[in-house]
Amino acid sequence: MPGFEVFGAEERKQVSDVLESGVLMRYGFDGMRNGHWKAKEFETAFAERMQANHCQLVSSGTAALTVALASAGVGAGDEVIMPTFTFVASFESIMMLGAVPVLVDIDDTLTLDPEAVEAAITPKTRCVMPVHMCGSMADLRKLKDICSKHDLILLEDACQAIGGTFEGKPLGSYGDLGCFSFDYVKTITCGEGGAVITNKEAYKINADQFQDHGHDHIGNDRGAETHPTLGYNFRISELNAAVGLAQLDKLDGILKCQKHHYTILREALSGVEGVSFRRVPEGGEENYSFLNIYLPTEALAKKAHSALSEAGIDACFYWYTNNWHYINGWEHLKELKALGRLPQEIRQQMQDLNSTDFSKSDAWMGRTISCLVKIGWPEAQVKDRAATMRRVITDIL
Ligand SMILES: *Cc1c(COP(=O)(O)O)cnc(C)c1O
Repeated sequence: MPGFEVFGAEERKQVSDVLESGVLMRYGFDGMRNGHWKAKEFETAFAERMQANHCQLVSSGTAALTVALASAGVGAGDEVIMPTFTFVASFESIMMLGAVPVLVDIDDTLTLDPEAVEAAITPKTRCVMPVHMCGSMADLRKLKDICSKHDLILLEDACQAIGGTFEGKPLGSYGDLGCFSFDYVKTITCGEGGAVITNKEAYKINADQFQDHGHDHIGNDRGAETHPTLGYNFRISELNAAVGLAQLDKLDGILKCQKHHYTILREALSGVEGVSFRRVPEGGEENYSFLNIYLPTEALAKKAHSALSEAGIDACFYWYTNNWHYINGWEHLKELKALGRLPQEIRQQMQDLNSTDFSKSDAWMGRTISCLVKIGWPEAQVKDRAATMRRVITDIL
């Protein structure tokens, strides 16, 4: 998935446009910036590529989630339903606003189980946050129906699945709001950066204000702007946005290459008895950044994972025991270890994660191996890799 593999002259050119004028900020200094507005240009291009009416760039994917939630009016005590398999940013962004994360099981899509979502809805639920992990998506049709029925916001975390689609629409554009990360290991990168997309003008206005201290951005004198709302600083810098502009041009080429490499790996494993693949919901197309496979049991998955790494196959992950992506590794969340006192709503409403039964998630995660698809591999290397993976996994099964 890494866009850093294709960093080159185009990115350097975009950055040097900014360095020539020295205007490193996205707002103001109109006369000094030689006509360059990289963040604005990126927002327009990204909204168009994602078939959304609006895009708000911010400083990270985590900031994007926070800004998206805030712009939809999510606040203290509101419950946000999120999956057990995700990245820590999901609960960080929710708790940042004093809202309460409600963790629910995943299914064989490795994303939110719609039935588990519906069962977790309470009068305090405001938002459902599917996370399209490792290149593929949640069943957005079912989740949208649930959200419409219960009048909830559907917020897609598409940070790991940029370029995938559902019912022909780019991931992130299907729900009320979609979030992306451009951190250094994502499919396209700004170094650090993120984006929120939406078709709702009110959310766009809120996002625009919230990410810049509540500034109304009317007129061209920042000092004279009013503050319709309290806000924060989640701005992207002009330098980061410049890198992103060059990377966005490369997105379709990256996706094409990922699909090619993914297909070689998948075909090699298709005939292996005992190996099955993650389910992609009907209507979905992956972005092919990972190949996700199931082994028959947890013990065999662990064994296959070590055998692959001993055979020199890097970048295959066993998330079940990984600190970043699965609830098993989140002691700090389970124990609510914060530097200061957490909002009362969180302390009172949060489920006891030490005693919640996530055996359904465990059953899928325990058997999952995710293999990163790199774009810098020459084709011969992908074929060797595929053959080695097939041999190693066949041997242990
Ligand atoms: C990377 C990532 C984020 C956070 O993005 P940052 O830019 O690193 O803050 C959020 N959600 C998911 C699923 C991610 O993979």
